[in-house]
Amino acid sequence: MYTIKTFQQLLTDKLAKHQGTTVEEASDKDLYYAVASIVKEEMNENWLKTRQKYKEQDERQVYYISMEFLIGRLMESNLLNCGMLDVCTDTLKSLGRDPEAVYNQEHDAALGNGGLGRLAACFLDSIASLRYAGHGSGIRYRYGLFEQRIIHGNQVELPDYWLKEDYPWETRKPEEALKVQFGGEVHTHRRFDGSLEFSYNDVDIVRAVPYDVQVAGYDNDVVNTLRLWSAELPPEDSSILADSESKYYHHLDHMHSIEQISGFLYPDDSHYEGKELRIKQQYFLVSATLQNIIREYKERHRAPLHKLHEKIVIQINDTHPSLAVPELMRILMDDEGFSWEEAWEVTTQTIAYTNHTTLSEALEKWPVDMIKNLLPRVFMIIYEINERFCKGIWFDHPELRDRIPEVAVIAHDQVHMAHLAIVGSFSVNGVAKLHTEILKNKEMKPFYDLFPEKFNNKTNGITHRRWLLQVNPKLSDVITEAIGPQWIKQPSKLIGLMRYSNDQPFLDKISSVKQHNKLVLAQLIKERTGITVNENSIFDVQIKRLHEYKRQLLNIFHVIYLYNELKDNPALDLTPRTFIFAAKAAPSYHMAKEVIKLIHHVASVVNNDKDIGDKLKVIFLENYNVSLAEKIIPAAELSEQISTASKEASGTGNMKMMMNGAITVGTLDGANIEIRDLVGDPNIFIFGLNSEEVLDYYAHGGYNAKGIYHTDERVRKIMDQLNGGEFGSQEIEFKDIFYHILYNNDPYFVLKDFDPYIETHELIERSYRNQKAWQKMSVANIAYSGKFSSDRTIHEYASDIWKLKPLK
Ligand SMILES: *Cc1c(COP(=O)(O)O)cnc(C)c1O
Repeated sequence: MYTIKTFQQLLTDKLAKHQGTTVEEASDKDLYYAVASIVKEEMNENWLKTRQKYKEQDERQVYYISMEFLIGRLMESNLLNCGMLDVCTDTLKSLGRDPEAVYNQEHDAALGNGGLGRLAACFLDSIASLRYAGHGSGIRYRYGLFEQRIIHGNQVELPDYWLKEDYPWETRKPEEALKVQFGGEVHTHRRFDGSLEFSYNDVDIVRAVPYDVQVAGYDNDVVNTLRLWSAELPPEDSSILADSESKYYHHLDHMHSIEQISGFLYPDDSHYEGKELRIKQQYFLVSATLQNIIREYKERHRAPLHKLHEKIVIQINDTHPSLAVPELMRILMDDEGFSWEEAWEVTTQTIAYTNHTTLSEALEKWPVDMIKNLLPRVFMIIYEINERFCKGIWFDHPELRDRIPEVAVIAHDQVHMAHLAIVGSFSVNGVAKLHTEILKNKEMKPFYDLFPEKFNNKTNGITHRRWLLQVNPKLSDVITEAIGPQWIKQPSKLIGLMRYSNDQPFLDKISSVKQHNKLVLAQLIKERTGITVNENSIFDVQIKRLHEYKRQLLNIFHVIYLYNELKDNPALDLTPRTFIFAAKAAPSYHMAKEVIKLIHHVASVVNNDKDIGDKLKVIFLENYNVSLAEKIIPAAELSEQISTASKEASGTGNMKMMMNGAITVGTLDGANIEIRDLVGDPNIFIFGLNSEEVLDYYAHGGYNAKGIYHTDERVRKIMDQLNGGEFGSQEIEFKDIFYHILYNNDPYFVLKDFDPYIETHELIERSYRNQKAWQKMSVANIAYSGKFSSDRTIHEYASDIWKLKPLK
C-alpha cells in the first residue's frame, strides 16, 4: 500500500509524464486528472482479474438495466474503495494543496433524476463490495440532468454538458459496438419446416458503442463494470458520399437524429410523457444490452442458449427497460431459431422487474401506433404476448374474465408497460414493505391473484460507504473508536452503538461532530447565498425532487406559520431554526415551480425582517445533486420526510439522513415505517394521515379542504397571504397555489395534515431543548441505520431473486 512518500512520487511522475507540469505549477484540474489516472490504473489490473475469475468460476451473473444511474462523483468513492482515500488526501495536504478543491474539480455524472437513479448507483457499489458478479447497463447521455439556476425566485434550466472535459472514469470500446434497428417493414416467410422467418426493409440502423466505467468493490479487489451505451451513426453509413448539397444536409440531419438517442436524459421524475424519442432510448438500451448479454454468454459457455436463465438474470429498474421482454423473445426466436414456447420459457425465467411507484401519472403507457411504427417486429411479439395472456385468463381463470381489460398488456390502443413487465418476468418486487403491500392488495391485485409467487419486497438501501464513511469521516471515526471497524464491512454492527447511549463522553463526541458539520455547511451557505445562519439553530432539512406529493408546500406553510406567530408575539420563546431546502422541479411542472418560487419569496421576507433576526432563516441551495447532498446531509438534524402517506414508494433520502444522526419527522409512508419499527416511536416524529386513511379518502371522498380553510384561522391566514400578494410584489403572487388547494380539494392533504404537523414541530422543539435526550435519539438512529445499507438490500436480491453466490 502507498505511503505519503510513495504516493507523492507517483503523483509527481504522473504530472510530469501526462501534463508536463510539476506539483507546484499544477492546477487543481491537473491534480485531479493525475490522481484519477493513478486510481484508474490501480483498478485496471483487478478489472481484468475479476473478469477472468467470472469466466473460470462460471457462476450466475446479474445484469442490472436502468435508464438512470445517478452516479455523482467517483474520485473519492473509488479512492475509498481502493484503500487510497486517506493517503491521497494526506499527500495533497502535505504538498500544500487543498484536497477538497481537487476533488471538487469533478463534474457530477447526473445520469438520473433522483431516488431511482441513485438507487442504481448504490446497488452497483454494494454488488461489487459483496463480490457478486453484476453488471450495470445504461445510457451515456451527452447531457445529464439540467443544471438549476434560480433567477428572481424562478427556476431556470441550463443544459448539463458534463462531457465538455474528459471524463477519466470511462473507457470507450468501439470494437464491441453493436447494431440496433428501428422502423422499416417486416416481411414474414414460412420456411420448409413450417417455422417463420422475418426479414426487414428500410430499417434505420443505429450503432451502439459501449463506454465502460469501472465499479470497484470496497477493499476486496473486485472491479465490476457499468456499461453505458452511446448512439452513433454506423461507419458504413457515414462513408456514403453525398453528391449534392441536399443529400449532404439530409445526411447530417440523419446523423443528428441518431445521436439524439443518447443526447439527453428526460428530466421528469415520477412522471410519464409519451415522447417518441424516449421510447427510442428505451429500446436502444434494451436491444444493445440483450445482444451484448447473448454475445457474452456464447463466448463464455458451450451450453445452449436454452439454459440462458441458469447462468443469467436480468433485473429491470422500473418499467423503462420492459421492452427487454419482447426483445429477448425476438432474439431467441428470430436470430436463434427458438419456438415461441421455448423462447417464452427462457425469457420469463430470466427477467425480474422492480416496481418503483403506484402514482398513476408515472405509469408508462405507450400508444400502439408509435410502437408499431418504430418497432414493428417487437410490436408483433407484444401483440402475441397479450393474446396468449388474455386467452389464458379467459380459459383458466373464468372468475377473472371481466377484469381482462384491467390487466391486458394492450388495451385502449395503448401498451401498458407494467403489465408487460409483470407478465414477462418471474419476480416483481416493490421497494418498501408498505409499497409492496399496496401493489399486492390494491394497485396490481389482479396480477397478485394470478401470480402470487412472483411478488416480493426488497426495501431500498443506500451505500453506507459513500453516505457515511466518505461524506462524514469525523462521525465514522467516532463510531470506529467506540465499536471498532467491523461495521464498515458489516453495517448491521452499528447496532453496537446502543451500548453508548448513556455514555456522556460519547454523546458529547457525537454532538461536537454534528456541530462541526453544521459549521462547515454554514460556511457553504454563506459562500453560496451570502446569508449568515445561526449555527445553534435547528438545521431542518428537506432535500429531494420537488413534487406535490413530497409536500415541500407543507414545510413552507410551517415556516410561514412560525413567521406569523413571531410577528404577532415578538417575545415568543422559539428555538431558532434554519430551514434548508434543495430541489429541482421538472421543467414543465408548473405547480412544482410555483412552490420553488414561494420558498424563495418567503425566504426573502423572513430572512430580511429585523424583527425575526436569526430566529428563522430559510435557505434554498440551488442545483440539488449528489455532491450537494453529500455536503448537506452530515449537518442535518431534522430530516423532513413528509410525503402524503401511500405516495412515496420508499424514499432513500430518509435513510441517508438517519445514518448521519438526523431525526426524522415524517408520515407513515414508504421506508419511514420501517425506520419507525426499528428505532421506536420515541426516536422519530410521526404525524398525519396514514396510508389507509388517504386511500380511503381517495376511494370514498369525505375530505373537504375548504372546510379547514374556513375553520382553522392559521390556515386561512397563510392561504390569504398567498392570495393577497404578501410574499412578493404586485406582479408576484401565489394565486395558482391558493386556487389549486381550494378548488381541486387539496389532493395531497396539505391542509388536513397542517395541524398535526405544527403540533409535532412543537414537540420537536421541546425535545431539542433537552440536548442530551436529543443526542440519545440521534445515536439510536445511527445505530439502527445499518439495516438500510444497500448491502442488506443486495444480499436479499442476491439470495431471493438472483440466486447468486459471491465470488470466491
Ligand atoms: C438520495 C437522493 C435522492 C432521493 O431522495 P428522496 O428524499 O428519497 O426523494 C434524490 N436526489 C439525490 C441527488 C439523492 O442523493
